[in-house]
Amino acid sequence: MADHNFSIEFFPPKTAEGAEKLRVTRAKLSELHPKYFSVTFGAGGTTQQGTLDTVLEILAAGEDAAPHLSCVGGTRESIRGILQQYKSHGIKRLVALRGDLPSGYGAAGEFRYANELVEFIRAETGDWFHIEVAAYPEVHPQAKSPQADFDAFVRKVNAGANAAITQYFYNADAYFQFVDAAQKAGVTVPIVAGIMPIINTTQLMRFSDMCGAEIPRWVRLKLSSFGDDSASIKAFGLDVVTALCERLLAGGAPGLHFYSMNQVAATTAIWQRLVK
Ligand code: FAD
Repeated sequence: MADHNFSIEFFPPKTAEGAEKLRVTRAKLSELHPKYFSVTFGAGGTTQQGTLDTVLEILAAGEDAAPHLSCVGGTRESIRGILQQYKSHGIKRLVALRGDLPSGYGAAGEFRYANELVEFIRAETGDWFHIEVAAYPEVHPQAKSPQADFDAFVRKVNAGANAAITQYFYNADAYFQFVDAAQKAGVTVPIVAGIMPIINTTQLMRFSDMCGAEIPRWVRLKLSSFGDDSASIKAFGLDVVTALCERLLAGGAPGLHFYSMNQVAATTAIWQRLVK
């Protein structure tokens, strides 16, 4: 386990109460000794300050942290400013994304795709940042075709990424096939599997529809059959996701990135089962 890349993702809290809760969550999750925590970034810069504040708190607590940075809606000047700010705080890791514009948001900005952001970061800051990019084993929902999406992934890596983190998925074969194809295409950077613990059925269904993650029929039907029985949902989710993680690690996944949803219990429960 210690050889793998384990990381945990948070979203920046919106209120003082949320920030206090996240402090407690982070302290508890630190006991699992992840390699780093990452903090998401609202497209169009909507959570920029919250992302930075959360990252700085994590760094001040002695843990490594990576802000996400999405470029859609941004300009070269605004992204340059953020990079300089991150650098001045000694931040060394970034998760670089295109992002999605909130509906009703006007201009698309000066960057169209994540590969342009990665190129820009390298041109502006050389090797200062360790850059992670997103990967989609089940294909990004806006992709023209699976092949076009895959080609875009390879382009993004070749623009200077050090590693990739996948969108979450529950079909291990999609991940293995993707990694295999990436290796055949000359990609040598680690492709860490993104893991979404199952905590809440409605939320999971909504997210998965939006981001193009498939919930296998048997998992969906079982979750639906539990209705509001949260204990059964969590217990079943723990079994399903732990089995997925075990399969991924046994099949050579270089690490796991947990979408913690700012919650302690689910990530911890999976983790503890994995280290047993
Ligand atoms: P890209 O790699 O640019 O791909 C976007 C789409 O464009 C794909 O369909 C791709 O096939 C297509 N494409 C790429 N290049 C080209 C090209 N040259 N020509 C034509 N089509 C092309 N969102 C946030 O807002 N904030 C976050 O903090 C955040 N964190 C994330 C973390 C992870 C690990 C993951 C997996 C996703 C995250 N997202 C986040 C969501 C992400 O921003 C969305 O999935 C977004 O739609 C795509 O971002 P990307 O960086 O993968 O884009």
